[in-house]
Amino acid sequence: MLETLLRRGGAFRPHIARDAQLTEASVSRILAELRKEEIVDEIRQPAPYAGGPTALITLSNNIYVAGIELSNNRLSFSIGDVSGTIDYVERVPVSPQLDQAEFERIFTGCLATMGKWTAKRGVSVRQAAFSLPGYSNANTNPIFPWDMERLRSFLSDTMQGVPLSITNSVIAQAAFHRYSGNSSYPATGDHLFLFVGHGVAGVIVNESATIEAFSPFELGHMVLERNGLACRCGHHGCLEAYTSLRAISKIVGVSETEILQRGDRFLDQLELKAETREQLRERLFLLGLGTGNALNLHPLPSVVISGWPSLLAPEDRQAIIEGMNESLLGGFDAKRMQVSFIAPSIGTDPQAALNYAAYCFVRAGGLDTRAEERHVEENA
Ligand SMILES: [Zn+2]
Repeated sequence: MLETLLRRGGAFRPHIARDAQLTEASVSRILAELRKEEIVDEIRQPAPYAGGPTALITLSNNIYVAGIELSNNRLSFSIGDVSGTIDYVERVPVSPQLDQAEFERIFTGCLATMGKWTAKRGVSVRQAAFSLPGYSNANTNPIFPWDMERLRSFLSDTMQGVPLSITNSVIAQAAFHRYSGNSSYPATGDHLFLFVGHGVAGVIVNESATIEAFSPFELGHMVLERNGLACRCGHHGCLEAYTSLRAISKIVGVSETEILQRGDRFLDQLELKAETREQLRERLFLLGLGTGNALNLHPLPSVVISGWPSLLAPEDRQAIIEGMNESLLGGFDAKRMQVSFIAPSIGTDPQAALNYAAYCFVRAGGLDTRAEERHVEENA
């Protein structure tokens, strides 16, 4: 039920009952309990049809969660409500070669600043999430070559009892689009979600699985050209070296920092010359080539793309389809394959981690896990 509310940004009782496959009586009983716990609110708002329900159920906007991201060469901390509204944000620039000790030092400093903000307002953070490129359950990370065991124990020691989930950046991005109350998401079944930003990554979205079980993969480090452009990973010819924001910034003549500042409208002020657009189309063609190759390894009927390609005109984006047509087994067939574009989300970090934290809070049933633990200890 909570997941429905998060996904729809609020819902009427009959819709909640349908999504959760419960009777309306059960829904009312559970909602009464959730209201007592101050997890949901009821707003008087008639459904847009005659004789429909008159109360819209939403998640309470008094539940605070924290989102922390390491992306775009900065460590960002945020606090907001479960609908994704941000009340507090701090961003600290970091080196692309950030080492683990330096990360721990900066993290501790940011956490202390955030703690002062929450203490001043009497805010209690119910759930936190940290998203990191290249993260998986393994003890290695190809993008940040740190000791992941040390990272996990550092975070659990530092967070002072606030439940924290760690995830891969692209999973947080997928959670953001899925759980930001946006009902216009273009894919309904299993699909490939691609994020083309500072890094380039994909995730296989399995509609029947929980989001933390999705498989992320580092599409950006697929080598497409032997001895090609140098990539930050140390290899040459990686897809990311051609299609990341940094690669694009050189083509459009705007620094990546400025692109991140301008965000989703960074192309608006630019008059793209015909040759610039042609260069961008070539990069999109490579993105299509890599995507088709990925789909040969894991066939899926639909691809959803977020990131700078969403800003280009449909005729330019056609280059992605052309690239896919050259690598996808059997070629590209619009009857078998759907490609959609959603909001680019450029420079919006740590929004995605905040939405992921809201998702984790809801997944845990909206329970205060610390209160549960205390209860268990008291009873032991
Ligand atoms: Zn690479």
